[in-house]
Amino acid sequence: MFFKKLLRTSEAWRIIKNVLEKIELPIEEVEVDSALGRYLAEDVKSNVDIPPYDKSAVDGFAVKSMDLTGASLYNPALLKYIGEVAIGSSPRYVIREGEAVKVDTGAPIPGGADAVVELESCNILGEYVEVTKRVAPFANVIRKGEDVEKGEIVAERGYRIKPWDIALIKGVGVEKIKVYKPPKVVLISTGSELSPSWENGKIVDTNKPNLKNLLKLLSIDALDMGIVGDMREEVKKALETACENADIIITTGGVSVGERDYTIKILEEIGEIYLHGVAVRPGMPFAFAKIGDTLVFALPGNPVAAYVDYKLFVETSILHLYSAKPPDIPIMAKLKYKIPSSLGFKEFVRVKLENTGKEVYAIPVRRRGSSILSSIVRSDGVVVIPEDSEGLPEGTTTRVYLHTQPWKGILEDGNS
Ligand code: AMP
Ligand code: MG
Repeated sequence: MFFKKLLRTSEAWRIIKNVLEKIELPIEEVEVDSALGRYLAEDVKSNVDIPPYDKSAVDGFAVKSMDLTGASLYNPALLKYIGEVAIGSSPRYVIREGEAVKVDTGAPIPGGADAVVELESCNILGEYVEVTKRVAPFANVIRKGEDVEKGEIVAERGYRIKPWDIALIKGVGVEKIKVYKPPKVVLISTGSELSPSWENGKIVDTNKPNLKNLLKLLSIDALDMGIVGDMREEVKKALETACENADIIITTGGVSVGERDYTIKILEEIGEIYLHGVAVRPGMPFAFAKIGDTLVFALPGNPVAAYVDYKLFVETSILHLYSAKPPDIPIMAKLKYKIPSSLGFKEFVRVKLENTGKEVYAIPVRRRGSSILSSIVRSDGVVVIPEDSEGLPEGTTTRVYLHTQPWKGILEDGNS
């Protein structure tokens, strides 16, 4: 058996997305304090105005700006010093024409005042204060609601919570938020040659730690079902057991068309295969299937192939389920060397970024094979060579998709 037809990534994504549309992740309410990295299931709105009152941005004197119309260094205005407002207290004063009140940074502005003159432009003369400059209305005043207005959205559904979001959400009086519950994910490595740690004559199962920790970045604590040998019954039992408890199964290995590639054969037997074989390099023998309601992402065993397919299909799918809207920040770089590629395949070439100060270069890693795990570690991201191209010449300005970011839009046609 050979691959009947390799799908373009855009076609593969259309098929997967169609399946995902029917899935809704459950929602849970959590304390904002413990929501780092979670994805919001609803908009968060402010309960209050921030700041809650007009406040001073400096240490100085609150004044009526009108009183200082003609004031200058050589012609200072003389105002009556009627008291002060310390930070943390509420103003007892309402100032009238010709009066001033001393205010600390952050203190509320007394009634009647519309601006603050910084201390450096004031001379205190007993009961009076001499002001040596004019100020515009609202100078040095942080207006009520200037940071956030009551009712304003401070974080949108699908947004991933970052440290400063926790700060702002708490700042506007919201303590609990609704987030998506992560899907239950089970990881299975297949391959009789594999071992969980280094052992003479064996291959370390490096896909497991990579995938496990990639999933952690999506708030998912995946269940590790260990290593399964290349035997029909073992693979079948593992998949059957996994789907009892999982929303998503991720397997690696055994998805090609060889005699002992049982993952595909078992998926055919106990599930439904939606696609097998995508025109990507590395990562061509990827399959997407369902067993009952459980989604199965069957990735190839080669570490770079598994990683690329994870970034392309698994991460994108989970982000889709989270309604995530990751920011699209294109990093553009100039290719230091030409990259050859095969027509008909979307190729993902690992590159290191180098900023010379004048130019940002993308330097393709030297060892490129789909088994070369160090090519991920020694690079910052990937350059995409589209299906209809036989490579990119040296000096091409091209986009770099970073390992640390979702590869947004990369599955669509015409992206590179
Ligand atoms: P397969 O996709 O099962 O044909 O495996 C292709 C290559 O990837 C073989 O050289 C395997 O030894 C290697 N490989 C398979 N699974 C893993 C894994 N979990 N970790 C590291 N290498 C693997
Ligand atoms: Mg294998």
